[in-house]
Amino acid sequence: MKKLVLAEKPSVGRELAAVLGCVNRGKYFEGPSYVVTWALGHLVTLSPPDSYGEKYRRWTLANLPMLPEVLDTMVIEKTREQFDLVKSLLDREDVESIVIATDAGREGELVARWILKQAGCTKRTQRLWISSQTESAIKQGFENLKEGSDYDNLYYAAESRSYADWYIGFNVSRAMSCHFDSRLSAGRVQTPTLALITDREDEIESFAGKFYWTLRADFGRFKASYYTDEKTIRIQDEEKANSLYSSLEGKTGTVTSVKKLTKTDKPPLAYDLTELQRDANMILGFSAKQTLDTLQRLYEVHKIVTYPRTDSRYITQDIVPTFGERLSALKNTPFAAVCPKVENIRKDLSRLVNNEMVSDHHALLPTEQPVNLEKLSFEEKALWELVITRFLETLSEDYVYSTTTVDISVEGNLFSARMTMPDSYGWREKARLTGRRNASASEDESEYGLYGLKEGSEVTVQNLELKRFATMPPERYTEADLLYAMEHAGRLVEDSELKKRLENGLGTPATRADIIEKLIQNNCMERKDGFLVPTAKGRELVRLVPPQLRSAELTGRWEKRLFAISNGQESEKPFIEDIKKNAADLVEQVIANKDSYDPARMGDPKHLCPSCSWPMAKVMDAEGNTHYVCQRFSCGYEEMIIRKKIKDKVLLAKSVIKESHYRTAPRRSEAPAKESSGGTFADFIRASEERKKGRKH
Ligand SMILES: [Zn+2]
Repeated sequence: MKKLVLAEKPSVGRELAAVLGCVNRGKYFEGPSYVVTWALGHLVTLSPPDSYGEKYRRWTLANLPMLPEVLDTMVIEKTREQFDLVKSLLDREDVESIVIATDAGREGELVARWILKQAGCTKRTQRLWISSQTESAIKQGFENLKEGSDYDNLYYAAESRSYADWYIGFNVSRAMSCHFDSRLSAGRVQTPTLALITDREDEIESFAGKFYWTLRADFGRFKASYYTDEKTIRIQDEEKANSLYSSLEGKTGTVTSVKKLTKTDKPPLAYDLTELQRDANMILGFSAKQTLDTLQRLYEVHKIVTYPRTDSRYITQDIVPTFGERLSALKNTPFAAVCPKVENIRKDLSRLVNNEMVSDHHALLPTEQPVNLEKLSFEEKALWELVITRFLETLSEDYVYSTTTVDISVEGNLFSARMTMPDSYGWREKARLTGRRNASASEDESEYGLYGLKEGSEVTVQNLELKRFATMPPERYTEADLLYAMEHAGRLVEDSELKKRLENGLGTPATRADIIEKLIQNNCMERKDGFLVPTAKGRELVRLVPPQLRSAELTGRWEKRLFAISNGQESEKPFIEDIKKNAADLVEQVIANKDSYDPARMGDPKHLCPSCSWPMAKVMDAEGNTHYVCQRFSCGYEEMIIRKKIKDKVLLAKSVIKESHYRTAPRRSEAPAKESSGGTFADFIRASEERKKGRKH
């Protein structure tokens, strides 16, 4: 009898097969004791509303809320062939049990369980739970397989998460689309994330700038800044600034205090995914998705880093004895020169080693797999260097430095200067020696001229410099900022218990990059010069969505309960019941909203729909063709601009992809039809898929 191993994707399946001694059988692998197959991410999903019969096919407010008692799953059509193959292997008579080897996390558990459920498989299950893809980790994992049922609660939490997203997402999106007659999609995580971006835009727009002045005195050996009574260098009053500037030159001052302090900065913690995504965005200019994809290759293909989708920055005690092996894996790389010997590793690792702070996976670390730099792409190498630099930093001693602060009084006015001298570079040396800029190390400005000054010394103002500044509005979010804000969404929440649950923030490390991409695809925000900028559609969406969905609080409250479900402290049922109530509530709130969607604020005002004269949104398809889509949901008109090259002349031709539902163009003042007949969900999906494919006429 054999065990069937179900991996999350082909690349992982092949790795497992190699370690288990299985040979290629065309579409799967097989050996004396194991058969290895794989999913392609999810093969099974929740059925969309229109599969629940005629009732939910029409997009109208009358059909809302949609609250089917039980949500059905269905095979994803695009990958049906793979599902059929997996099912046939599950059904084989010589397969007595299943080893679930999908990603070791909430979503990975769901991938496997839904496949087994859909296939009607009731055979015994075991679970492979590993944090690194090296041969030894895989072997160890198979020697210590867990009982499948140990992970039942994790599955219930995953399933509840997907139910919650179905009830909330479909209901609110449909309600918004029908009520405001525009294609608006809202969701549990994407909407609060979008709100972060639009709130910032509001702040920038309402910002009222002010001027302030700074005054710096040159005392010959050193320079010092003027401090106001409020202990800031910002002088708000222009007259005061001018009078100081014109009266103090040539005056003598007295050193009133010299304070020397020794400070230590402990090394940073190791990377989790989000922190690495932030640094890679800041230092390398990578998008969050690019970092995740690159890291995934370092993990799967090269096997030189541990599990990427981790949300922990700590390691467990049992990792410590493996440091030696991990360091020697670096011996053919430039890092060899700065790698500490095992006996020289920082002794006090109490901050980094914390079993409590590691749930599914520990922080990102190098594996013990020797590194061959020639095999890495440019991107892979750059990202890998960040991970290694950080790893070496965590094993290094503190950065010790002293600051000397000198206060000078000039006719009763306070000037102050500070000098920073490193005593021991410690962990900061790693980034210095490898010539790599490091986001966690900022160089302090040094004022060596302060050396030797004593209390009572007399100094003379030789020169003054007055500068005017304008206060700046907050900056737009970069992708790094947004990831940080999503991760720390809990900070904006009052309730301390919720805050704790939201420590993991909006979304999970594994999904944040996708959420950003989705908001961009839905035309809710766009990338501009390295910043994320909300579109008019995005801003209207946030303005009109029920307030509950705008804040992170609701999502935090649900995350808390999902966590309780995965711990076995709460059951699925009451959670789902509450979610349904919540969905109904949100639909009511949407309908009660008396505001209307302002089409003039969005879309391209130069491109008005020929049928209904609402603005149309410009969308590019996969082949680079420009489409214009009417943003009036009940209209649905869409055209494509085709470029044709005839005898070196580029001709632009319009092709109507979808006719308007209106026969004649109504005047703009006419109220949009509330009971929209904008086609079925299936139509909507088909239209957007066709756009993606760039159907040619
Ligand atoms: Zn139209």
